[in-house]
Amino acid sequence: MIKIHTLGFPRIGAQRELKTALERHWRGEIDATALEATGRELRARHWALQRDAGLDVVTVGDFAFYDQVLDHLLRFGAEPARFGFAGGEPELIRCFALARGVAAGADAHGEGCSCPTHPAGGQRALEMTKWFDTNYHYLVPEYEPGTRFRLASRRLLDEVAEAQALGHAVKVVLLGPLTLLWLGKSVVDGFERLSLLDALLPVYTELLTRLAAAGVQWVQLDEPILGLDLPPAWRAAFEPAYRVLGAADVSILLATYFSPLRENLTMACRLPVAGLHVDAVRAGDELAEVLDQLPPERELSIGIVDGRNVWRSDLDRALAALRPALERRRGRLWIAPSCSLLHVPIGLADDGTLDRELRSWLAGAREKLDELQVLRRALGEGETAVRGELFAARAAVAARAASARVKNSTVAERLAALPPDADRRASPFEVRQAVQQAKLQLPEFPTTTIGSFPQTPEIRAARAAFRRGELPAEAYRTAMQREIADAVARQEALGLDVLVHGEAERNDMVEYFGEQLDGFAFTANGWVQSYGSRCVKPPILFGDVARPRPMTVEWARHAQGLTKRPMKGMLTGPVTILQWSFVRDDQPREHTTLQIALAMRDEVRDLEAAGIPIIQIDEPALREGLPLRAADASAYLRWATRAFRISAAGVRDETQIHTHMCYAEFNDILPEIAALDADVITIETSRSDMALLRAFGDFRYPNQIGPGVYDIHSPRVPDTQEMLRLLDKAATVIPRERLWVNPDCGLKTRGWPETEAALRNMVEAARTLRAAH
Ligand code: GLN
Ligand code: ZN
Repeated sequence: MIKIHTLGFPRIGAQRELKTALERHWRGEIDATALEATGRELRARHWALQRDAGLDVVTVGDFAFYDQVLDHLLRFGAEPARFGFAGGEPELIRCFALARGVAAGADAHGEGCSCPTHPAGGQRALEMTKWFDTNYHYLVPEYEPGTRFRLASRRLLDEVAEAQALGHAVKVVLLGPLTLLWLGKSVVDGFERLSLLDALLPVYTELLTRLAAAGVQWVQLDEPILGLDLPPAWRAAFEPAYRVLGAADVSILLATYFSPLRENLTMACRLPVAGLHVDAVRAGDELAEVLDQLPPERELSIGIVDGRNVWRSDLDRALAALRPALERRRGRLWIAPSCSLLHVPIGLADDGTLDRELRSWLAGAREKLDELQVLRRALGEGETAVRGELFAARAAVAARAASARVKNSTVAERLAALPPDADRRASPFEVRQAVQQAKLQLPEFPTTTIGSFPQTPEIRAARAAFRRGELPAEAYRTAMQREIADAVARQEALGLDVLVHGEAERNDMVEYFGEQLDGFAFTANGWVQSYGSRCVKPPILFGDVARPRPMTVEWARHAQGLTKRPMKGMLTGPVTILQWSFVRDDQPREHTTLQIALAMRDEVRDLEAAGIPIIQIDEPALREGLPLRAADASAYLRWATRAFRISAAGVRDETQIHTHMCYAEFNDILPEIAALDADVITIETSRSDMALLRAFGDFRYPNQIGPGVYDIHSPRVPDTQEMLRLLDKAATVIPRERLWVNPDCGLKTRGWPETEAALRNMVEAARTLRAAH
């Protein structure tokens, strides 16, 4: 018997029902009971989908109102002490306080709480960071010597009962204890969070025992950190930890995913658990080794359906990979998606926007479950039992491979013919700097912004009307040109030195380009959870990328025509476009990125030809594309930085190239950032009080830098003194002649009043600095 299961299922709902309910609850429109009812309904629906797809067990424990890591803190009573919970607060209140912070003066504990310790000064939310190399963000646990664990929530047991009452066979999923500790951060200097393991294990054992008592046989413990470069102490902790957990009377399925096990493979195979799940999509070449090393009495779950991408599986290839396993593990084989399906849309087969052909190439979470069933039957009953399904799958895969929409021979030829120095500017930075300065005549401490200005309700309304076909193209264009003129006038009045057009016409920095490039498709409902109630609809990059026509030139030309000051053209870089899309699985990411780079190179040159003297290529996602294993990093960085340079390097010395990065600590890739050879880089630094800039200084970053002098994530308007303080600090680490003055990031989420007030103070700060010499 082959079992089929999924490591997890998307929880947000096909129509984003959870998002709607959460946001209504936060606005006070529905109470906790109604929110809980939505959660129950979604769980029931998603379990039913799993049962109807023939899965042997439904997965319980993958639901969360905000985040699954946060739920473990609630489950184990490990909320940071700084929130001052007394213990009596309802779980949902604590959940949202941790996730969203508590405003000053607000009562963290909910109505009716008279606890004296509630944080009168407010509490910031837990930090949020990316879940491994995905675009899902989890809340970072905070650990300290005083962190204690206890079984503090019935929620998981209730959900088990809920599923059982619906007649389902249940498998529970939890984060493994080591991953739970690894994902958190120590908030006390020198405190080693691994030291909490001994305190955590008994609570895990207690929970496992209770689950066993509730009739649960299988518990999936996710330990994706087995795919990371672990310090020796962490590796050594696994065996004893799982020995302790073995005391509970449940079968543990240890789940690994996202990256190869490598030096942890033997350990993972030998841990005293009932079964092991491996990611055969990301680490397919390790499967043979796992088959050799996993003791015969263990179950093996093979993640063969890609849980990170949206393509329909090549079932023949999957069957070929599974067959040796079937022979070797008779009766002990499970088939699954490679990881939780949280990272793909629920369904794509009936998406209203995609054309039929494209739809037939794709598989969302629901379709991926169906693939599991076909694979099981093909292996168990023989291929004839699922002849029709296999035939359809084969036809789809073949059609996609042969489709003229996927291939564009001009692109391949152009890439092949690219001269090796296509990624080099004609002259070194010092030469370019002098030529650019002679042309641009910028003052010391030039002021600029990162690109976007407030996306006002009027702008959004105009775009929505245009998309619905209610506003003619010409009228839309006029409306956007008016917005651009307005942004230019405001910048001139503020006295900024380098202007931007404001990005009024852009809904999103990737979608805007994807919509104009060949090779991209967009879905109506392909939502993927990003964090909390937030979802994104990543573009689907299905074919060779080409640029049929200029994408930003008309807007930029219009903007430059309105002012004598230099206008900065604004583009999204190839790596960021790649990172924030679902990408092809039929060619290396490197090729896809280089194709995007060529398209952007043409755009850059067209902007230059249109008289735009400065061009910014945003790469906020450069750091996040880094592979999970250090050994794989250098290959990635080599092609990623080359792709950026290919987009940038086609211009004359006098054209100034900017780049912009944010969202991450990128101290560890400073050499590669320097190797981008952008004339100017603007970075997010204000929240870290210029700590990141110090790293640039220590590294002796050679080109010009604009460290962000104010945080754009809040409406707060910092005064000139505050920005001056940051700039003084900056001038101690970077020579002043190489410093720019700008906010942390784009201003599209802000309103005009605070934007203008903050920029006025910023310009004032730059002028004060200039006068000081
Ligand atoms: N140019 C973009 C903007 O200003 C950059 C956004 C980003 O870095 N995330 O909105
Ligand atoms: Zn940014």
